[in-house]
Amino acid sequence: MSQYADVILPLPLQGAFTYALPDEFATRTQVGCRVIVPFGVRKFYTAIVVRLHNEKPPYPTKDVSELLDDAPAVLPGQLRLWKWVSEYYLCSLGEVFKAALPSGLKLESESVVLLNADWDATLPLTTGEEKVWQALQPKKKGKASGQSLANLQKATGLKGILPVVKSLLEKGAVQMKEELRRSRKPRTAKSQANTQPISGPLPQEGGESRRESPSSSGERKGEGALTEAQQQAMDGIVGQWKKHGVCLLHGVTSSGKTEIYIQLIKKAIGEGKQVLYMLPEIVLTTQLTERLRRVFGERLGVYHSRYPDRDRVELYQKMLSDAPYDIVVGVRSSIFLPFQRLGLLIIDEEHETSFKQQDPAPRYHARNAALVLAAQAGAKALLGSATPSLESYYNALSGKYGLVTLKTRYAGLSLPDIEVVDVQEMQRKKMMSGVFSPQLLAHIRKALEQHQQVILFQNRRGYAPVLECRECGWTPRCQSCDVSLTVHRGFRQLVCHYCGKTYDIPSVCPNCQGRELSSRGYGTERIEEQLGRLIPEARISRMDLDTTRSRQNYEQILHDFEEGRTDILIGTQMVTKGLDFDRVSLVGILSADTMLSQPDFRSYERAFQLMEQVAGRAGRKGSTGHVVLQTRDAGNGIVGQVVRHDYEGMYAQQAQERELFRFPPYCRIVSIYLKHRDEKVAESLSNDFAALLRQVFGERVLGPDTPPIAFVQLMHIRKLMLKLELTLPLSAVRQRLVALQEQILSMPAYRSAQMYYDVD
Ligand code: ADP
Ligand code: ZN
Ligand code: ZN
Repeated sequence: MSQYADVILPLPLQGAFTYALPDEFATRTQVGCRVIVPFGVRKFYTAIVVRLHNEKPPYPTKDVSELLDDAPAVLPGQLRLWKWVSEYYLCSLGEVFKAALPSGLKLESESVVLLNADWDATLPLTTGEEKVWQALQPKKKGKASGQSLANLQKATGLKGILPVVKSLLEKGAVQMKEELRRSRKPRTAKSQANTQPISGPLPQEGGESRRESPSSSGERKGEGALTEAQQQAMDGIVGQWKKHGVCLLHGVTSSGKTEIYIQLIKKAIGEGKQVLYMLPEIVLTTQLTERLRRVFGERLGVYHSRYPDRDRVELYQKMLSDAPYDIVVGVRSSIFLPFQRLGLLIIDEEHETSFKQQDPAPRYHARNAALVLAAQAGAKALLGSATPSLESYYNALSGKYGLVTLKTRYAGLSLPDIEVVDVQEMQRKKMMSGVFSPQLLAHIRKALEQHQQVILFQNRRGYAPVLECRECGWTPRCQSCDVSLTVHRGFRQLVCHYCGKTYDIPSVCPNCQGRELSSRGYGTERIEEQLGRLIPEARISRMDLDTTRSRQNYEQILHDFEEGRTDILIGTQMVTKGLDFDRVSLVGILSADTMLSQPDFRSYERAFQLMEQVAGRAGRKGSTGHVVLQTRDAGNGIVGQVVRHDYEGMYAQQAQERELFRFPPYCRIVSIYLKHRDEKVAESLSNDFAALLRQVFGERVLGPDTPPIAFVQLMHIRKLMLKLELTLPLSAVRQRLVALQEQILSMPAYRSAQMYYDVD
């Protein structure tokens, strides 16, 4: 019987905390169980037990207040992965814990609970549950509002509120409120009554109807036998796995990679193993899950960040049970699920940058973490892409991964042909209609005449990236960030794409009182408007972050396009991948230039990937597709490589440059971000820290730099960079870094500074 438990809290704090175990829990608590512990002033958290012992600490301990599980909720394999993530990505175990479990499994005093509107009240409630249920009833009619657990505790006078809420959650009577994860709460500069919300919580989706989403029309897909080329690729992969844990499948768009995955999954579950099939969020569509559901039925679980938390809790618990799903198809965070016998891990579209979490910590790359998971579990891993990341291709060429190439499209289709239009020349000849070249318009008209569909890609949402006064050149900027505001016509607002803050569109220039404010540049919204004027008979829809706030909107847009109710789909990178529509004969890339001018060492690679991927949406059935690529930089090497579908050429050139200038995959990069409200402090902190780092890391330290956008959400940012040889052990680097960080942040002047790391 243990008297003490070391636990990790869902907080950015290093290390574990020791609590005393009251006798009533002592015999039942196991490593991996969740407990409730008090922390700080009248706060409580769900914590995970990581060690049980009898070593009395030399300081007074508090008691564990509740034991939530009779069996571990976090398995040893998961803890192992958490540990790796926290060490590699330089964050605390608590931050990983926070990212790893759905909210419903980690209640804390600040968690907000709501009544569940469609609960059918079949199960009786205990007295305690009844109290909470009453306390949650709406004050005003109709409007159910959430309450934090801390408030509920006060309102009900219940001492142990958590177990009560936990059982209400299990009965389905209440649910956790979740903020939309990708956007922060907007603060409207001038308060406005009638504007649509730009971001905020996702609209609640009606219970079960979500499941009955559009079923695929037309012939049933995905049940054929493999073609000869596909079979060869599959055999190749299985062969590579004899020598390598990881294999990269480089298969051109529409070569049937998904079909190969399906066969590999069948094989793995036939051998009694579990499979994790990971995809970027925007590729995990109903179209795909239904295709998989037809093959795997009830053995398939879907872990999507856009499903309600309740569904994610349910899936998590099923994975812990003795009848877990055999295959889970999921997004980034699915690597944190409790697998019991993982045998195969597939990462599709492995090059996708959305696998990397930017904010908050853990800033992990789910592909890399997944490969670690596979290695730890002894599972085989398959990376798939038509445009592999430079890192993965490098690993394949250097023999670290196996490599299998599939060059032919299914059904003998050839890759789309790509026509480059020089926008500068067309402008000189005064032939552009706004953003549309005559060539692109002609092809759109032709496609529509032939009852084909069109996808138009512009890597920018909103109406226009800049509003400008014609008189004096004034442009509105965000008050909290050093960026110009994007015009959103639909919302009648200016929006900061960095912090989400919104502003009214001024009618006169505040600088010179001029009345002519014009939009400069093109976002998807403006393209939609312009095209509507140029081709009024076309049925156009738009897919970007603004039109897909809810999962339902998203599915609806895709469904309408699939059913042929729309002719032209305009969108951001959301339209570039995964979509498999039979009647798309034309793809237009409205401007390659914004992609080619990003100040990032990966921007060329990424531009190639986006263009190659979106081109791949054309001509998936029937005849060869056509792509019109508009650019002012027709001579750019990347454009030529896209035209020739020359991945290898792109790789060779980019790899050479990366090697020359020492960028990944030839070294490891740790970016260090320093933030402070006071610009002077940020500046001197970055200089002092750089000097300190140089004493240890010498030439490997670059900076400090002022990033292109150096003022975000009222914080001034400076950046330092460490370029590390691949041979340098990261754990040693980490130790030194953490020590230096503590040293500098303990100086009184820098106490309120923030510092965080971003690895690779
Ligand atoms: P990728 O994932 O490489 O882009 P998909 O697996 O989505 O390609 O295949 C593209 C299209 O071709 C899909 O509509 C798919 O159903 C079809 N297809 C591919 N291989 C086969 C096959 N062996 N039998 C029947 N249909 C196939
Ligand atoms: Zn002006
Ligand atoms: Zn801002």
